[in-house]
Amino acid sequence: MRLDDVEGDAGIEDRRGQRGAGGLGGGLGGMKIGKGGGIMGIVIALVIAFVGRGALSGGGGGGGTGIDVGDILGQMGGGQANVASAPTDAGGGAKDAQYEFVNDLAIVLEDYWSTQFSSSNQNFTKAGIVLFDAPTSTGGCGVGQPEFGPFYCPGDSKIYIDLTFYEKLENQLGFSGDFAFAYVMAHEYGHHIQNLLGINAQVTEASRGASQEEANDLSVRTELQADCFAGAWAKSAYDDERLEAGDFDEAINAARAVGDDAIQRKSTGQVNPEAWTHGSSADRQKWFRTGFDSGNPSSCDTF
Ligand SMILES: [Zn+2]
Repeated sequence: MRLDDVEGDAGIEDRRGQRGAGGLGGGLGGMKIGKGGGIMGIVIALVIAFVGRGALSGGGGGGGTGIDVGDILGQMGGGQANVASAPTDAGGGAKDAQYEFVNDLAIVLEDYWSTQFSSSNQNFTKAGIVLFDAPTSTGGCGVGQPEFGPFYCPGDSKIYIDLTFYEKLENQLGFSGDFAFAYVMAHEYGHHIQNLLGINAQVTEASRGASQEEANDLSVRTELQADCFAGAWAKSAYDDERLEAGDFDEAINAARAVGDDAIQRKSTGQVNPEAWTHGSSADRQKWFRTGFDSGNPSSCDTF
């Protein structure tokens, strides 16, 4: 992916290196899952996060916990950016290559979505971006755990990204590439767009009192829409000549790898569609392509 021409400061909050500073005041604070838990540990963390979500969202309070605390895309998704192996500036707080990559990607995403919003006369506010590598507090989503991978918190409109986690996942899932990373971040940005459009709130409302099956179905539709939004953005990146050879395939491959069936097969050897919360590999690829082919977020009606 080409980002060298991108200028500006996305205002990333860099909380890396603040190990142990997260406190455990939030609703998920009781969870402790070892970092070495491997894929099963990750999946368990996810299930707890999903169950916890209902309890938390019933608690009134601020922005709710939304759809994406413990986003399975983050759990299993991602892929190490090419920049991850680039030499980094030594020294605490230095703006390393990973930081710069996320910064530039955030700016390109903001540009795209602010243009989309202004062309339909809607107010756009950008998502906050937090880099973290240890339990960290959020504004309404409990304590963010690195085990969750990247997630979006509607309460404070921030995307939480743990870069070190990506590197582990690359080894576990065997996919990689900077555009796989871009797909993941664009997916999380898609949840921010849903938040701005009131879709998160509608889904949370509709999920209240719904059966588990209905709630899962709403979750899948929400996640597939975020994939489609990511695809629509990716088309603009393509049009702006930001994609390099293989980039599109990196995203499609990532969308396949984070399908619920692929993850279930990998973690338990069995596939149980009733438990899906993010959609099958085929559907995730399909909706990413739908967004890409149309280049228009309004094609992303998954509901
Ligand atoms: Zn998601």
